[in-house]
Amino acid sequence: MSKLESLDNQFYEEVNFGEKTEIEWRDCDVVIIGGGGSGTVAAVRAVECGARKVIVLEKTGRAGGNAWMAVGMFATNAKMQREAGLEDRSDEVFKSSMDFMEWAADPKIVRRYINNSGTLVDWLVAKGMTFKMDNNHPTPMMLMPKRQSPHNGKDPSHGPGFVGSSVVETMVKEFDKLGIELLLKTKANRLLTDDAGNVTGVVATSLEKEIHIKAKAVVIASGGFGANKEMLKEFFPEFFNIDGDVARLCLGHSTGDGITMARAIGAQTGEYNGIQLGGPCHHPWAFSVHNSLIRPESIWINKNGERFVDETVSFRGFYAMGKQPGTIVYGIYDGVTRDYIIEKFKEDPRSKHEIEYMLSLKEDLEQENDGRRVFIADTLEELAAAIGVNAKTLTATVERYNSFCETGYDADFIKNKEFLRPIVKAPFYAVLGQRFYDTTHGGLKINERLEVINTNGNVIRGLYAVGDLASGWITQNYAPGAASLSWCFNSGYMVGEEAAKYAQMKA
Ligand SMILES: Cc1cc2nc3c(=O)[nH]c(=O)nc-3n(C[C@H](O)[C@H](O)[C@H](O)COP(=O)(O)OP(=O)(O)OC[C@H]3O[C@@H](n4cnc5c(N)ncnc54)[C@H](O)[C@@H]3O)c2cc1C
Repeated sequence: MSKLESLDNQFYEEVNFGEKTEIEWRDCDVVIIGGGGSGTVAAVRAVECGARKVIVLEKTGRAGGNAWMAVGMFATNAKMQREAGLEDRSDEVFKSSMDFMEWAADPKIVRRYINNSGTLVDWLVAKGMTFKMDNNHPTPMMLMPKRQSPHNGKDPSHGPGFVGSSVVETMVKEFDKLGIELLLKTKANRLLTDDAGNVTGVVATSLEKEIHIKAKAVVIASGGFGANKEMLKEFFPEFFNIDGDVARLCLGHSTGDGITMARAIGAQTGEYNGIQLGGPCHHPWAFSVHNSLIRPESIWINKNGERFVDETVSFRGFYAMGKQPGTIVYGIYDGVTRDYIIEKFKEDPRSKHEIEYMLSLKEDLEQENDGRRVFIADTLEELAAAIGVNAKTLTATVERYNSFCETGYDADFIKNKEFLRPIVKAPFYAVLGQRFYDTTHGGLKINERLEVINTNGNVIRGLYAVGDLASGWITQNYAPGAASLSWCFNSGYMVGEEAAKYAQMKA
C-alpha cells in the first residue's frame, strides 16, 4: 500500500533507529511501552496510585498514536450524566454488549470496563476536560463540545481536536506535573525476564543508544497491528488473504510490536480478535468527495456496471464489496444531486462543524478528476469508458434506477424512497470507493486485572497489556459499549492502578 493510501502522510513519520553501541541502564517502578491513548492515561494513573518512577517509551516523535484520530467515546454513570438526570445504564450497556458479542468476550473484563467508564469521565473532567453528552446513541456518548485544539488535517471528520487527542494532550500536561518521563523516538524492542519467567524490564533503542530499563511492572500499550501485513494475514486470513486492496486508516506505527515482544516470552495470542472493517471510503482524499460517495443519494456500481446493494448501508458495505470484482465501487451521481447532497449535509446537525469542508464539493471533484480517483463526463457513455465499464450495462443500470426514482420504489434493493435521485443531467460523476479498516482489536490474552496470560494459561507476573492489542473486551462483532477509544482510556486507567499496586508490592 502506498503512502497516499493511508493517513500516514498527514499524521505519521517513521523513525529510523539503526544499530547502537552505547548502552544506558535505567531503573523505574513502571515502564509503559507506547505513548498513545492507553499508555498516556496509564502513566498518569500509575503515579496517582503510588508508582514512584514511571517511564513512557514512544517510538514516534509525538504522543497520541491512533487515539489522535479518534472522535468520541462512551460512558455511563458519570457525575455530569447523573446531574443531567440520566440514569445509570451500566447494566444495560453490559448486557447488550455481551449479547451482541454472543458472550464470546470475557464478561469479567467487559463488566469492569463498563463500570469504570463514568469514573474515567469524572477523572478527566477533574483534570479540566469538558464533554458534551449524546444520549440518542445506542450507548451514552461523550463528545467534545468544540474542538479543544485546532484541526490541521485534510479530513475534519477525525484527527486533532476531538476526544482522543484532547485526552492525550491533557495527560501529557500532567506528565510534567507528576514527573513522568516521556521518551520520544524511543522504541521498545524486547522484554527482560528473570529465571521464573516474570517480567523485569524492557530493552529499548533511542536515536543515540540502547536503553536497558529495569522495572517492577511493564505495561504494553503499543496499539494494534493494522500496519503489519503478516500479522493481518495471520489473525484475519478471511479478509487479508484475498484479492483486492483494503485502505488502511490506522497509522504506520501499528505494527503489533507489543504482540511480537510478548510472544517471544510465551504470551498467549489469538483469542477474541476483531478488526474495524468498512466500505466504501474515498480515502484519504477530500472529505467532501468521500461524503458524496457515502451519501445514500448516490448509487454504487461495481466493475460490471451494476448496482449490488441498498446504498443506505453507508460505510457498512465491506462484505458486499468484497464479493464484487476488484472489491471496489464507483459512486455515481449527477450535477443536480451533487448540489442536493450539500444541502442535505447542511440539515444534518451532527455534521455542523464539517459543513465548510462540504461546500467545496464541486471544486474538490474537479481537482481529483485525474483518471484514478474521480471521473467527470458529459455523457454516461463517456463515463463508462473512463471507468472501464461496459457502456450499455451502465446505461441500463442508470435507466432502471431512474425508473425507480420516478415510481418511488426501488424494486431491486428497496432503498428508502427519500434517497432516490435520478441521474439525468451532466456533468456525471464517478467517485472511486475502496474497502477500509481502521484499527485492529485484540492479540494478547489478558485477565480482568489486565495481566498477560501465557500459553499455559498462567499469569506472566509483571506484564500487563491494554488498548487495541489486548483481547477479551471485544469480538469481531464490534459491540456498542466496546467502543475502542473508551476501552483504550478505561484500560489505561485501570492498568495504572494495577501496575502501581504490583510495583508497591514488589518494593
Ligand atoms: C482514523 C481513526 C479513527 C478512529 N476513531 C475512533 C472513534 O471515534 N472512537 C473509537 O472508539 N475509536 C476510534 N478509533 C480507534 C482508536 O483510535 C484506538 O482504538 C485507540 O487509539 C487505541 O489506543 P492504543 O493506546 O491501544 O493505541 P494507539 O493510540 O495507537 O497508541 C499506541 C502507541 O504505541 C506506540 N508504539 C508502538 N510500538 C512501539 C514500540 N515498540 N515502542 C514504543 N512505542 C511504540 C505508537 O507509536 C503509538 O503512539 C479510530 C482509529 C482510527 C485510525
